[in-house]
Amino acid sequence: MTATSTPGERARALYAVLKNKDLIPEGYIEQLTQLMEHGWSPDNGARIVAKAWVDPAFRELLLKDGTAACAQFGFTGPQGEYIVALEDTPTLKNVIVCSLCSCTNWPVLGLPPEWYKGFEFRARLVREGRTVLRELGTELPEDVVIKVWDTSAESRYLVLPQRPAGSEHMSEEQLRQLVTKDVLIGVALPRVG
Ligand code: FE
Repeated sequence: MTATSTPGERARALYAVLKNKDLIPEGYIEQLTQLMEHGWSPDNGARIVAKAWVDPAFRELLLKDGTAACAQFGFTGPQGEYIVALEDTPTLKNVIVCSLCSCTNWPVLGLPPEWYKGFEFRARLVREGRTVLRELGTELPEDVVIKVWDTSAESRYLVLPQRPAGSEHMSEEQLRQLVTKDVLIGVALPRVG
């Protein structure tokens, strides 16, 4: 194997070595693949946010102990050991980044989108968040402070956005549809219609 091998080649080489040493438990790869493809999804985060919008007691728990709140829905596991919900206000917009690599809260957000892993996004969001958000289609009023949270420690974040105007009569089920992966990362706002 050379230094120019692809990630796929490196992964297969690593797999072969681990398999050879009998270090991969039976069914481990299959279970993890199943989780990645079907278990980890921003639909999970959408359920959390919609519940917090309609249930003040759940909202309080979510902000106090995000891990416990998400565990009520069964959203636990790798990269979800210490979940922190970041509350947006009329004057504060939270945004998540991992300036070192690409960590996200897998059980609640799913795997990170491609752009989230990009060097440019990671570097620029910290320096010029307002401009980056504008480029992504999110224009924020000048009096809204943008707070960027770096996921490089143990904490895995999700953004709890403000419930949007016009959603007052929507059911919890309908509210879920407003919450996307971008909303949970904080680069987009939930919008009605
Ligand atoms: Fe990371």
